[in-house]
Amino acid sequence: MSGDILRGHCLCKAVQYAVDGDPVWCAHCHCGDCRRHTGSAVATFVCVRQDQFRLTGGELGRIESSPGVYRSFCADCGTPMTYARDDLPGEIHLYLGTLEHPEDIPPTLEVFCKERLPWLNLTVDGQSFESLPGQDPG
Ligand SMILES: [Zn+2]
Ligand SMILES: [Zn+2]
Repeated sequence: MSGDILRGHCLCKAVQYAVDGDPVWCAHCHCGDCRRHTGSAVATFVCVRQDQFRLTGGELGRIESSPGVYRSFCADCGTPMTYARDDLPGEIHLYLGTLEHPEDIPPTLEVFCKERLPWLNLTVDGQSFESLPGQDPG
């Protein structure tokens, strides 16, 4: 996949983006805030480098969902698009479902398992964390 450009868009296709680089990681997040923002049982993110991400169409709305945590969405149709935070400069996390080819990027991490819905039947070929890597007790 090296050298390919990742592309994605929102439901109404007003917002379009391109990424000139490979994903850094792909992860499921089970936290309650992601659940609300997506309206789904779990949110899946693809991390890319901020300087490789470009908006090629449309306009993003943005909310600060926690101090220093920003979630963007299509200003027209409301599709959740990106996640970024002040303490992770240089990273932008794309909601996987906005990619044109999400099937190409399997998740290898799951985070905030302490908030995971008990009935969710999901396996990840990789590591699971109660909160975030580096922040789990023990
Ligand atoms: Zn849209
Ligand atoms: Zn989350």
